[in-house]
Amino acid sequence: MASVMLTGGAGYIGSHTAVELIESGHQVVIVDNFSNSSPVVLERLQQIVGAGIVCERGDIRNADFLTEVFQRHRVDAVIHFAALKAVGESCEQPLNYFENNISGTITLLQVMQQQRVNGLVFSSSATVYGQPESCPIREDAALGITNPYGRTKLVMEQLINDICTAHPQFKAAILRYFNPVGAHVSGLIGEDPGGIPNNLMPFICQVAVGTRPQLNVFGNDYPTPDGTGVRDYIHVVDLARAHVAALDYLLREGQNITVNLGTGCGVSVLELVQAFEQASGRSVPVNIAPRRPGDIAECYADPALANRLLGWQAEYDVKRMCVDAWRWQSQNPEGFEPSR
Ligand code: NAD
Ligand code: UDP
Repeated sequence: MASVMLTGGAGYIGSHTAVELIESGHQVVIVDNFSNSSPVVLERLQQIVGAGIVCERGDIRNADFLTEVFQRHRVDAVIHFAALKAVGESCEQPLNYFENNISGTITLLQVMQQQRVNGLVFSSSATVYGQPESCPIREDAALGITNPYGRTKLVMEQLINDICTAHPQFKAAILRYFNPVGAHVSGLIGEDPGGIPNNLMPFICQVAVGTRPQLNVFGNDYPTPDGTGVRDYIHVVDLARAHVAALDYLLREGQNITVNLGTGCGVSVLELVQAFEQASGRSVPVNIAPRRPGDIAECYADPALANRLLGWQAEYDVKRMCVDAWRWQSQNPEGFEPSR
């Protein structure tokens, strides 16, 4: 069993991955600056796994801090979640995104090299496909950029691939997530956007719980079956389990991989709203609004490669994603810190 550093491990996907790793017998060291998460997560994780959680508070851009963490704890591999992720904000403040995401990753990779830690699992995104030519999207599809956040993901993938080439002992699994939604079945952890959500599912949740009056549907004139945008929503617990599978693959096979993590199913905005209404018993009023700049009509994965290499596939359907998202939202209507 491995000892794994999770940068950004207090965040939405990192916290769910911590649970799955610990339940698979691995040890976890969370490193987070809490710029987009709450320390309350650590108490909740402790409740779920029934054991103490190791967490070092600090910034991945700080090499001295990172070096000390590597010296204090055994680390066999790193799962690197820490990043800023809001597309709109990245268009307004591109330098912050380059600095946090790209410089942070370079510092992490430098310290890993000094400490001779040679395994990396990296959080990439379907955003690296830009405007996809067709769906389902395979990993060998053309890559593109539609915003500065996406650029940081593409650049980080390229940096990591260059390091794998230069240092063959260094191995990386690059995971391209489609649209993570849902929450742990306990309702103790979930997505807490802290303010007005940018993404569809947390926005639906806030409408259902009464925080917001209605959902603006960004366009109903796309060339999709009902005119609204189509995405590949994946339950965050399925995604978390894929990280365990990717880590095991890296440690066992020692091969570099880049894989899509999605279900392979395209779901429209209106279909997700309807599934959520059924799962929650709440109504979610919608208002048809103009298209959101930069949005694409449809984006869903071909997940066959992850299935073949990792022996992993998504298990939970859209209904389950909505049931779990609603449990989290209704138990925590204002997120982790109600006063925030
Ligand atoms: P999140 O914001 O919930 O988690 C990221 C965590 O990283 C936060 O806890 C934040 O405090 C921490 N962090 C950020 N910068 C840091 C720094 N410089 N030093 C230390 N900690 C730092 O986001 P998430 O949804 O869990 O996403 C995790 C990763 O997955 C990110 O890299 C994101 O780009 C990627 N991703 C997310 C989605 C999505 O829809 N959630 C989709 C594709 C890819
Ligand atoms: N969307 C919407 N209203 C919202 C947020 C999102 O209609 O308030 C739509 C968006 O246009 C897209 C889909 O929901 O078609 C998923 O958007 P999200 O931001 O969650 O993911 P991404 O576009 O980054 O894949």
